[in-house]
Amino acid sequence: MQIEEYSNIDKTFTKEVFTSRMQSYMKRYFSALSLNKLTNINYFLSKELQESLKSKLDKDTKDGKRTIYAELNVDEVSITNIREEQDSYKITCNVLVKYLKDEINLNDTSYTSDHGARSEREFHNYEVSLSKSKDAKEMPVAPICPSCGHPINVDRNGNCLYCKTDYPLYLYDFIVTSIKEID
Ligand SMILES: [Zn+2]
Repeated sequence: MQIEEYSNIDKTFTKEVFTSRMQSYMKRYFSALSLNKLTNINYFLSKELQESLKSKLDKDTKDGKRTIYAELNVDEVSITNIREEQDSYKITCNVLVKYLKDEINLNDTSYTSDHGARSEREFHNYEVSLSKSKDAKEMPVAPICPSCGHPINVDRNGNCLYCKTDYPLYLYDFIVTSIKEID
């Protein structure tokens, strides 16, 4: 379906808000991979994606490797598909990202930034899929932690500063179900 058609079904949806949110998600995604800190992004990922990223990072750590994405810039976001399924709405979009990729060896203490297999800083095209439940409720104006009741700034960290509970974003909005680099 067209963006306009979906905006009529979901009054909270605008292309502008979606685009800026995707830019923020992608920046935080690459930074979380670089820092091996998925707790910063888990709240906007599906459980399956959380688990597959965790096992990938755990395996890299075990192998003494880490991929660092430097000089990151998220360029264009274009929505390629919006469709209705039985219980949810799905959006697929393409995101152009520019970065320098560094494979570092965690066991090599002599590491310097110009060491290792550094790529050229070039564009990479990612296909990102998102899903929103048809039962989604309207997001509260002032989101609070479901566990301890402290305010949570969902645009900033998405989890509670006090008890670390993830905000249940899936109850209110689109969450990311897959992020794939494509040609
Ligand atoms: Zn809390």
